[in-house]
Amino acid sequence: MEKILIVGCKNTMDDVCIGCSRCMVAFNRREGAFERYKDVDAELIGILNCGGCPGVSIITRLIQVKLWNTPLNEQPTKIHIGPCLADHCQYYDDVVTKIQVKAGIEVVEGTHSYMPPKVFA
Ligand code: SF4
Repeated sequence: MEKILIVGCKNTMDDVCIGCSRCMVAFNRREGAFERYKDVDAELIGILNCGGCPGVSIITRLIQVKLWNTPLNEQPTKIHIGPCLADHCQYYDDVVTKIQVKAGIEVVEGTHSYMPPKVFA
């Protein structure tokens, strides 16, 4: 069973990108970067923001996820980086490198792919 934790941009999540619903819809439909789970059991267990610019608290927040979920016997097996972070974060290299180095599980860039290609066309 794969357990998915999404990490996204604090400036965007549930504010610019309302309800983080596109990530959840994509997961439920196994679309976008979640297509890889089409034929495997997978659950979404968390949507975590980076902690805010410049992303210095991301590892502490991952540790908090671990502590918070330990009594539930739930831990992520994959981390997905949301497009709010992957496509727009000016600290992308620092934030994602830290996650890759410290998480100890696979880090996958991407979640949904529902961004409109053009604003007015
Ligand atoms: S560090 Fe990057 S992902 Fe986090 S709030 Fe700032 S711009 Fe968004």
